[in-house]
Amino acid sequence: MTRPIAYITNPLVRHSAERDPEAIANAVANPWTAMVVLAGDLPILQTGEPGTSLLPAAILRRLPAHQEQVFLGTLNDRPVVATLAAPEAAELFQDDPVFAAVDLRSIAMRGLVPAEELGMLAMAKSLLDWHRRHRFCANCGAPTQAAQAGFRRDCAACGAQHFPRTDPVVIMLVTSGEKCLMGRQPRFPEKMYSCLAGFLEPGETIEDAVRRETFEEAGIRVGAVRYLASQPWPFPSNVMIGCIGEALTDDIAFDGEELEDARWFTKDDIRRMLEGTHEEFLAPAPIAIANHLIREWVKE
Ligand SMILES: [Zn+2]
Repeated sequence: MTRPIAYITNPLVRHSAERDPEAIANAVANPWTAMVVLAGDLPILQTGEPGTSLLPAAILRRLPAHQEQVFLGTLNDRPVVATLAAPEAAELFQDDPVFAAVDLRSIAMRGLVPAEELGMLAMAKSLLDWHRRHRFCANCGAPTQAAQAGFRRDCAACGAQHFPRTDPVVIMLVTSGEKCLMGRQPRFPEKMYSCLAGFLEPGETIEDAVRRETFEEAGIRVGAVRYLASQPWPFPSNVMIGCIGEALTDDIAFDGEELEDARWFTKDDIRRMLEGTHEEFLAPAPIAIANHLIREWVKE
């Protein structure tokens, strides 16, 4: 079964404009509130067909003291709070038939929760990761405290305010007429090829990042670039900016460090890779935007 591109649907109403300092305390005191709990990196799910990551508020009583909380927003008026517990908390659910601690990639790949919950889980994971890694002020080094219902950290020593970051990554399908360019990194599953990608640098346009990364990784010059779609990628807090680029040159050159191979694929290759019937090559996973980019391109 083909799963939809992951993490892109988030029905949560974000309460950005009204981040009351009491929002978390009020929500936690409300028995109707849904809790999204991460034990370290691992979301805790209530199992089922499918399961859910929206847990009853009473779940907090089973956890050791939590580390951070964020008021994510409301879902059909139901408050949703994300809670970070220590990684060891995952062990509390190990032999429990009702709950399970599962990594977010597997949750998406295996469809363990409704697709609508994946965007909310991505949001929770990125925010809680950010809190965990930003306990001290980048300006003066003093400890910081969560503020704005978990959407800011403040430094009492120097007055600096720190906001959650999202790191943009360009991911591109570079095409040349009826063929497209993909590469493989050594860490990929065997036979799998995917779109080239790289971080956007400060002061760089999306289009230039696509051109620079494609030239650095595969030696191909790119002309026109168009944006297709984006995807939150919560590992830990990227947004993948999916583009189609037109190649100006044909001869691939790669240094073997970042990529172990790069090659041109025909539309027929791509169709068979998507169907899983290609003898030599595999398409990127359906949950990834790379899969969406090639799927859209073969339709053109
Ligand atoms: Zn400071």
